[in-house]
Amino acid sequence: RKSTAIITGASSGVGLQAAKALVDKGNWHVIMACRDLIKAEKAAQSVGIPTNSYTLMQIDLGSLESVRQFVNNFRASGRTVEALVCNAAIYMPLIKEPLFSPEGYELTVTTNHLGHFLLCNLMLADLQKSPATDKRLVILGTVTHNPDELGGKIPPRPDLGNFEGFAAGFQNPICMINGKEFEPVKAYKDSKVCNVLTMRELHNRFHESTGITFSSLYPGCVATTALFRNHYPLFQKIFPLFQKYITGGFVTEELSGERVAMVVADSEYKQSGIYWSWGNRQKEGRTSFVQKVSPQARDDEKGRRMWNLSYELVGLG
Ligand code: NDP
Repeated sequence: RKSTAIITGASSGVGLQAAKALVDKGNWHVIMACRDLIKAEKAAQSVGIPTNSYTLMQIDLGSLESVRQFVNNFRASGRTVEALVCNAAIYMPLIKEPLFSPEGYELTVTTNHLGHFLLCNLMLADLQKSPATDKRLVILGTVTHNPDELGGKIPPRPDLGNFEGFAAGFQNPICMINGKEFEPVKAYKDSKVCNVLTMRELHNRFHESTGITFSSLYPGCVATTALFRNHYPLFQKIFPLFQKYITGGFVTEELSGERVAMVVADSEYKQSGIYWSWGNRQKEGRTSFVQKVSPQARDDEKGRRMWNLSYELVGLG
């Protein structure tokens, strides 16, 4: 019997290639949890995922109601789940004004963090239900979450402050986690710090009692994905070349997907509370290592505060 993995945002980029790489391992069925199922279907076919190896299910991470509906639909399908991969994200570097979710929360933080935070909390019960002994929950991180690394030094830097924005209810006009002025690039980085904090809190709270492996990874700089679709066209042209020839950080979408699939399925990666990286300079055959996360992302006090406030905001409190 095949194991089942749910991958959010599997209609493009890293998530699509992760779905393909996991199915290629032979013993996985993938639920592609996507906002646009027609696009997802085309994407699956374009990379040649056999039709009997995947199921499409609708989710809009930018709407908490939609996340709840997804969980209900998943439960109604009668499937078990052995792995959840939180991969979907938006990055909107050029917008001047914030966008908001139906609940009135800033959209980048909702899509990347709050939607996944709710999904993880709800799906814990489903992961626990599966009789499998090896169950994993993997959340995509990024180097830009970490100002201690070269790739994370470019301003604006992430800063969760003391979660003043979350504590004040995070409703329009409040749109940043620290309650300060809107900065779309910082919103993305903040959301990714929350992703790593969420992984670490899940580990601290639930690893021992459930045996679930919680981990994150930085798959490398995948400069060609649609993540940069909202950037200047010139940036989209130059960024991959810059990564290929100047920084040496360029990773193909296929390789990034293989890395995600390894963290989901391979025995070496059955270690909880870990953030995996393959470094920034990509050399042939480069292997992964356990990387220290940023000062904010390894701050347990921040993790607890993030958890409690997010719990309230997504309506679990
Ligand atoms: P893409 O933009 O190619 O893919 C993002 C995916 O998320 C798409 O499938 C997109 O759907 C989906 N998505 C966006 N918004 C929503 C939503 N509201 N509900 C459901 N799905 C949604 O980006 P990448 O593949 O590059 O990024 C994937 C992950 O990898 C992210 O978590 C990112 O932070 C991380 N990452 C990426 C790096 C890179 O260099 N590219 C580096 C480090 C980490 P749709 O197809 O409908 O737009």
